[in-house]
Amino acid sequence: MSNIIHRSKTRKVQVGDVSIGGADEIIIQSMTTTKTHDVEATVAEIKRLEEAGCQIVRVACPKEEDALAISEIKKQINIPLVVDIHFDYKLALLAVEGGADKIRINPGNIGRREKVEAVVEACKNKGIPIRIGVNAGSLEKHIIKKYGYPTADGMVESALHHIKILEDLDFHDIIVSMKASDVNLAIEAYTKAAQAFDYPLHLGITESGTLFAGTVKSAAGLGAIISQGMGNTMRISLSADPVEEIKVAKELLKSYGLASNAPTLIACPTCGRIEIDLISIANEVEEYISTIKAPIKVAVLGCAVNGPGEAREADIGIAGARGEGLLFMHGKTVRKVPEETMVDELKKEIDILAEKHYEK
Ligand code: SF4
Repeated sequence: MSNIIHRSKTRKVQVGDVSIGGADEIIIQSMTTTKTHDVEATVAEIKRLEEAGCQIVRVACPKEEDALAISEIKKQINIPLVVDIHFDYKLALLAVEGGADKIRINPGNIGRREKVEAVVEACKNKGIPIRIGVNAGSLEKHIIKKYGYPTADGMVESALHHIKILEDLDFHDIIVSMKASDVNLAIEAYTKAAQAFDYPLHLGITESGTLFAGTVKSAAGLGAIISQGMGNTMRISLSADPVEEIKVAKELLKSYGLASNAPTLIACPTCGRIEIDLISIANEVEEYISTIKAPIKVAVLGCAVNGPGEAREADIGIAGARGEGLLFMHGKTVRKVPEETMVDELKKEIDILAEKHYEK
């Protein structure tokens, strides 16, 4: 493993009431799939994302009617709102005016200097950051000409080009993404970016695909980056309901011990010793704990042969058996429970543990 520890050394940038950078924490974000000017549908989707654990949400802003909807959306949601601008500085100004907590725009794409200055000035006045989004698929022509095809060095050069425009205007509340759909290219680009500057990194693998394939691809790429101490915020991009992006992001952070308030499910893979319908029980328990905000480890095991001992790290768990299961804590049996009420008993114990955590 590389020894790059970039995450906590980055600049701390404020996005509404959420800080990105300067800490060993990765903020989860997602993007709405609705037409932004359809305020009702957009707010409804954002509410579902909030409920699932999304900490920052981004909306697309291709038209003036979208930019004009920002203030109304802001009034109805509880998490910071990022507005994604392609290059139209007028839309950027309207979004900032409407109360955007961050905008995503590449200053090098805005055009004339006065336009860039107007956007930077507006962001400075409102104290909101700018995310520079470098994408392997849309690098500047001069960079493609120099490198021949999208490379990590070319992506870093593009990022530095946009960063310099902002720094020259004394603007430093910058977040940078280095997205590529090729996993190896993304890993190399983020690694080189972390060596080149200390602005927080927004992680993502673009166009990663459908729920299953995109989850594996994102976990492979982002996992490698996160494990090397890089990344301050991330969006898992899936061709699926965006709530699924949040679920995947949370699970990925849990795998690296970076989710301080989320329960973990330990479930055995099942084998020939299995005595209960473990798969449906595991799914039911996973669903049950998904809204709990406490770092509890819950185990569900298919049998009691190696059961409790196999999941010693679990705070609470059940090991199934025909007729009667075992309820255990930290590898030790607490009591026997009838098969019919086994899952309900487990849920009750989970609630007690969560309650104890909330009282702390
Ligand atoms: Fe097999 Fe039992 Fe282990 Fe599950 S807990 S994998 S059923 S031995």
